[in-house]
Amino acid sequence: MSIDKTKYDALVVGGGIAGQEAALSLADMDYKVLLVEKDLSIGGKMIHLSKVFPTLDCAACITTPKMSETARHPNINLLLNTNILEIEKDNGIFSIALTIRPKYVKEDLCTGCQLCEWVCPVIVDDGFNNNMVGRKAISIAFNLANPKVAAIDMNHCIKCKKCEIACVPKAIDYSMQPQNISIETKTVIISTGFNLFKPENKPQYGYGKYPNVIDAMQMDRLIAPTRPYNSVVRPGDGKIPDKIAYVLCTGSRDTSIENAIGCSVDCANNPICSQICCMYSIKQAQLLMGALPLADITIYYMDIRAFGKGYEEFYQQAKGMGVSFIKGKIAKITQKDHNSGDLILRYEDVTTGTLKEAKHDLVVLSVGVLPNNEIAKVFTNQKLELDDQRFIKQVDELLSPSLTSIEGVFVAGTAAGPKDIPDSILSAGSAASEAASYINNI
Ligand SMILES: Cc1cc2nc3c(=O)[nH]c(=O)nc-3n(C[C@H](O)[C@H](O)[C@H](O)COP(=O)(O)OP(=O)(O)OC[C@H]3O[C@@H](n4cnc5c(N)ncnc54)[C@H](O)[C@@H]3O)c2cc1C
Repeated sequence: MSIDKTKYDALVVGGGIAGQEAALSLADMDYKVLLVEKDLSIGGKMIHLSKVFPTLDCAACITTPKMSETARHPNINLLLNTNILEIEKDNGIFSIALTIRPKYVKEDLCTGCQLCEWVCPVIVDDGFNNNMVGRKAISIAFNLANPKVAAIDMNHCIKCKKCEIACVPKAIDYSMQPQNISIETKTVIISTGFNLFKPENKPQYGYGKYPNVIDAMQMDRLIAPTRPYNSVVRPGDGKIPDKIAYVLCTGSRDTSIENAIGCSVDCANNPICSQICCMYSIKQAQLLMGALPLADITIYYMDIRAFGKGYEEFYQQAKGMGVSFIKGKIAKITQKDHNSGDLILRYEDVTTGTLKEAKHDLVVLSVGVLPNNEIAKVFTNQKLELDDQRFIKQVDELLSPSLTSIEGVFVAGTAAGPKDIPDSILSAGSAASEAASYINNI
């Protein structure tokens, strides 16, 4: 790499679709970029997805070429598994303190052959597949990870050394330590994305209690080309479901959460619309009609918000395919009995004003979008302001959507509020242009 690894034009924080787009736009303009990702691979939420609304293009087919371009661009230096500890602004330059957490595998030697995974005897939950299956304590993050380098989960490793023996290029190194580094940059782009509402915080929906109540990210994994099973199955008993319900607005447009049992800071009331849960549920329903042609699919909704180009047509297409839409507010989900694992949904049918019950054998909670604003805490001598909903505050949402309260710091994608993929990409382009113009004028 031809980059001076301590001085950059831009630091991009977060390697989801927005961060990659912002980094690539700047790198293509010949600016030197450091892209920092806290996880073991870039990709963000998009690399988890099956297909994308409303075109039903395969998400991985769109995003993996971008991931490769980002990882290989000569003007981008990529740091994975890295935490930003501090960002301080002095005389117009940002000084950044970072910690690269050890992978216990030498990146320059690992070939991604996965022989270590074969011999590792320890199985841990596979976070990429929302813990629905297992993976080995040493593994690459997921099939399409970029870079494709193994890492050891030291919380579970038993140091049996089987991986060390199997590794032909001798890449395993149990003695690796966290590495602290400092860099300087002229601008910062925040693209740290969003958090999903944790459905446990709506205890009346039974998530975590009844195995056949899942969330929408789990369903996106179950129908993805890189899915964990050959077919869509219920987690409770592996049965192929044939009466599936979607509960829209789980933890969005909801001001009843704050007092929920066991509620902590991350489950405060969330009055806003996720802007994605209608559309991703309609997408999943259409994909399920293909995967399980005999299944009945019902979407319980408050309003259908199909606001983007081609979205209304996509909604109408789902109706035409036979997906049922019921305007109903779900009050409670209970399990019919332990043996069947089926679920009873108690709801108000809004059209008739009556209370009803319906039986389904799999329930998908279409969870809302919450802010991921942890990054604001690392700014030491400047305040990165948050908006009323605790997303990164945009100076002017309409006229300067990428500017933040700190000059030289820009925001891209869902870090500033709920967005679908096209809007996240557009906002990243805007953040990169603003950053380029700022660099040229300092
Ligand atoms: C179930 C589901 C289905 C969806 N389906 C679709 C669809 O079909 N079509 C569509 O248009 N949209 C869909 N979406 C929305 C889509 O996922 C988002 O629009 C998109 O992921 C936003 O990208 P982003 O880069 O802003 O954020 P993210 O994808 O959240 O990426 C943020 C990145 O930043 C990293 N990060 C976070 N904090 C830090 C930190 N402090 N330091 C370093 N790195 C950090 C994260 O690890 C992550 O890699 C769906 C969402 C869900 C939940």
